[in-house]
Amino acid sequence: MLALPALRWSDADLARHRHHHHRFDTAPVRPGAEMEVSRGCPYHCTFCAKDNFRDDYRKRPLTVVLEEIDAFAAQGVEYIYFIDEIFLPNRELLEGLAERPIVFGIQTRIDLWTTAMLDLLGRAGCVSIEAGVESITVEGRNLLDKGSRLTTEQLAERLIHAKGGVPFVQANLLESGTDDPAEVEAWRTHLRQFGVWANKPVPMFPYPGSPGYAKRWGAPDDRAWERAMEHYLAQFDKFSDIQEARPRALSDLELQHVDSR
Ligand code: SF4
Repeated sequence: MLALPALRWSDADLARHRHHHHRFDTAPVRPGAEMEVSRGCPYHCTFCAKDNFRDDYRKRPLTVVLEEIDAFAAQGVEYIYFIDEIFLPNRELLEGLAERPIVFGIQTRIDLWTTAMLDLLGRAGCVSIEAGVESITVEGRNLLDKGSRLTTEQLAERLIHAKGGVPFVQANLLESGTDDPAEVEAWRTHLRQFGVWANKPVPMFPYPGSPGYAKRWGAPDDRAWERAMEHYLAQFDKFSDIQEARPRALSDLELQHVDSR
């Protein structure tokens, strides 16, 4: 990561990039972009596909990151989505972002942010937070090896505090198998009153490269993705409150691809 220079993109490439990933506060006017400040994550949640390439946490130098952001701003980009596995609190970066005409979205863990740092995050221009909470019980979070230090009530307080300075705040929930559906609905309703969206718990996909996959089937082999998908489709018939279609098995898709050639 230290050796990577600031990336540069042609004006034409950027002009074609109209999409603002995971942004809901307003419609895009000028181009969006994606970039990374860091790679990897120091945590080891069971469901996270991080083992293969995104395990150890490492950061790019601040000067290089700011150079890349400045180039985006000079080329008319108005929104950056940071594709970091986990966007950790970083005062120098946030202060640098606050001085620049860019807004941005992140994925993070809300338990790592103090209220003061959340305020700085909002001032820096963050307009979208996706925060992995996963389960509304300590047992559920422990089962997923989330390693969270806060209670569910404290997590809710942090999410609600974040919403004071960031237009879109989402708490991600997973189907951990331990949470009472009525309590989950009550928690979602509570957050919604403060403008925070918690999705209906989504079924867990056993990603090859996740600790959960390795525990169930060992190291991924050539059939790892087919195996994971078959398991997922056999286990669940509902997938997410924003996804109505049922995914198809990889073997079906591959057959269709062969037929269409
Ligand atoms: S889910 Fe988030 S916190 Fe957990 S290992 Fe993956 S990136 Fe890290």
